[in-house]
Amino acid sequence: MEALNSLIREADRRSALSPLPGHAIAHRASLYADDLVLLVAPNANDLQCVIQILQLFAGASGLVTNVDKYLGVPLSLSRLKRADEQSLVDLVASKIPTWKAGGLGVLDLRFFGFALRLRWEWLGRTAHDSCWARLPFRSEKSVAVMAAVSMTVNIGDGASARLWTDSWASVGALCHYAPNLSAAISRAGKKRSLKDGIFQNRWARNIVGAPTTQVLCQYLRVWGILRDVILDPLQEDRFIWRWTADGRYSASSVYQAFFAGSSSLLGANELWKTEAPPSVKFFWLVLHHRLWTAERRRRHGLQDDDACILCGQEPETGDHMFVGCVLARQLWFSLLAPVGLTALVPATTEELASWWLRQRLRLEVALRLAFDSLVLLTSWILWRERSNRTFSRTAPGVQELYLKLVREADDWVQAGFKTLSVVCPLWSQNLAAM
Ligand SMILES: [Zn+2]
Repeated sequence: MEALNSLIREADRRSALSPLPGHAIAHRASLYADDLVLLVAPNANDLQCVIQILQLFAGASGLVTNVDKYLGVPLSLSRLKRADEQSLVDLVASKIPTWKAGGLGVLDLRFFGFALRLRWEWLGRTAHDSCWARLPFRSEKSVAVMAAVSMTVNIGDGASARLWTDSWASVGALCHYAPNLSAAISRAGKKRSLKDGIFQNRWARNIVGAPTTQVLCQYLRVWGILRDVILDPLQEDRFIWRWTADGRYSASSVYQAFFAGSSSLLGANELWKTEAPPSVKFFWLVLHHRLWTAERRRRHGLQDDDACILCGQEPETGDHMFVGCVLARQLWFSLLAPVGLTALVPATTEELASWWLRQRLRLEVALRLAFDSLVLLTSWILWRERSNRTFSRTAPGVQELYLKLVREADDWVQAGFKTLSVVCPLWSQNLAAM
């Protein structure tokens, strides 16, 4: 195999192969046991040259490459278009007839691809020594957000865990715990490791936004948390995958937990298909009952009081906060009444997932997709408001929430998440009439 590698290097040296874009790729050929990964520019000349090298190598070594079985994988530094990957999907699907035919045990390639991309995020954080870690890799935003939601960190030396976005504290990721403060942190500051950030309180110097009351309140809380962090310089940070028993990533665990449908997680399929910005991926935690609500925090001994901050009457669980709470139900009423769908307003004892899945089936398709997005948007607004208010201990009014939500819905539509466009005009009319 070393001979083959030398042949390729020689071809490269003689400029028989076109140079690869960028400087990030140091080696054109990488060998892993019996497998060879070869990076080639997709033009006839280069491919012809590679074929000749392989034939030369086959003549000398007897190791013949079957070029007919070639399954070129398109690589790009920017995002691949659907068209680029479609030929590959078709090729694989044609080799495995059952995948096309459907039925039990069928893999959905798009979902499975997503599970595999999460693997890169996992390896990127946990396997610094592996040969793969050096390949150029730019994460997609939605995959990165999903990865952040899927991993928790046991703190060791603090060198790998990111201070703001990793879930190392008992309150979860600080960017969700203290959203206003997090928004005031500089881009470079957001990327700091925990170790780097708490050294001489460097993190505090990364605050570049305006020091509003909320920012200051959250600053004090975060200060308290970071002051108590004790690093162990002899131990590396340990990343734990939430969705498996042994805490290690496995593609099937992700696939099953998220995409295999209602048998493993109520609402997973529907959630996957719902149009919403990446930040709203926090909803996976809601469905998994992993959100750090007051009730969960009390159960883990982090606080004494588990009352819902919005109504002060019931324990704050996800189900309560997003559908059962008086305030949530009032908000749902204000949202659904202008659309003529008051029949969908949840009852007090409702569970979020079952309520959502039951009600969406009563709607025709366009409204159903709007309702899906609305469930995420409403939960997002309630959770964000609740996190903000936890610091000031005052509850927002329904009117105020409604206004914020309608504005945010407009932003979503502007940003290309168009499912809500069927209901936005009705809300605006309603606002004008109020
Ligand atoms: Zn409540």
